[in-house]
Amino acid sequence: MSKIRALVFDLDGTLYLSGKPYPKAVETVTEVSKHVPVYYLSNNTSKSLVFYTNRLLRMGLPLQEKDRILSAMTFALASIRERCLKNVFLFANPEVVEWFAAEDSMLNLRPSKEETELVLVAYHSSFDYRELCEVAWRLERGADFWVTHADFVCPDENGPVPDIGSFMALFKMATGREPSRIFGKPNPEMLSPIFKHYKPEEVLFVGDRLYTDFELACRAGCHFALVLCGETKMADVKNLARKPDIIAEQVSDIDFQSLIETD
Ligand SMILES: [Mg+2]
Repeated sequence: MSKIRALVFDLDGTLYLSGKPYPKAVETVTEVSKHVPVYYLSNNTSKSLVFYTNRLLRMGLPLQEKDRILSAMTFALASIRERCLKNVFLFANPEVVEWFAAEDSMLNLRPSKEETELVLVAYHSSFDYRELCEVAWRLERGADFWVTHADFVCPDENGPVPDIGSFMALFKMATGREPSRIFGKPNPEMLSPIFKHYKPEEVLFVGDRLYTDFELACRAGCHFALVLCGETKMADVKNLARKPDIIAEQVSDIDFQSLIETD
């Protein structure tokens, strides 16, 4: 493996589960952050970027600069601006709707059915049935349909909880519609801010999920370290045509020092 000059960590199932850090995860990331820039990349759009910033800082994880958290929400917002969209029905938790509104005060995030140009579905974990209907009615009328990511479930200490991939199946059944844009992993666009500074082969991505994290690394051409403390078990890796560069039980078992120093 070539010398690693930047690290990207997935969050849920990699650094923590249900908001509780894995053993020595914080210490390991803190140590390695003294030598290379550390980025965080999560598909979870149930909370705002402010929440994640505070959570990482509260856990003691190093956050060298604000823009080191890469989120599907940021990409979705940038794309809304690029397209000059104004009437965007945002299916998201109230704090995420508030965050969007604060980021761009020109957006109308609760447009009528007739006004709606775009429905953006985030990982909404507090909706009521009426909100599901509001989305379905807008999709039925032909509004464009984007999702922040397409994970089927989110890991949780109690078991898998339905995420946007599951919502997509529901909306497909109700309206026949599928999203025209999916942000988030495994879309390699998520790493574009890092590739402005580093070549893909200089980047190591650490994650726990094959169909999002590993798939992103494959598409982007960067290295991948799989941790088995989250969703994936060793048996899942056996039949893969391409194997992760590193497989470890958890983040603290990865010898980052040798990766950074090896030419
Ligand atoms: Mg994960």
